[in-house]
Amino acid sequence: MFQGVICPRCGQGALSPQIVTETIVVSNNAVQVTVQADVCSFCSEHWFDPQATAKIDAVIKSLHDGNVAHLKHLGELYQAS
Ligand SMILES: [Zn+2]
Repeated sequence: MFQGVICPRCGQGALSPQIVTETIVVSNNAVQVTVQADVCSFCSEHWFDPQATAKIDAVIKSLHDGNVAHLKHLGELYQAS
């Protein structure tokens, strides 16, 4: 049986590379970014390689700086009381 890298979080699942869409929230804004991640088969934790981490960090910085012109506008964020 194939045993991949065991998840450091739960120690039970095996990690497999998948394309995932992460939703990142920065203050009242959210941005979706599609990256490759190693996903645990047991606890579903996402582990990002340096390239994916850099991509995520870049969009977080864009939101912090209000630099969103290059991002696709998907919708608004609402809050129910
Ligand atoms: Zn796990």
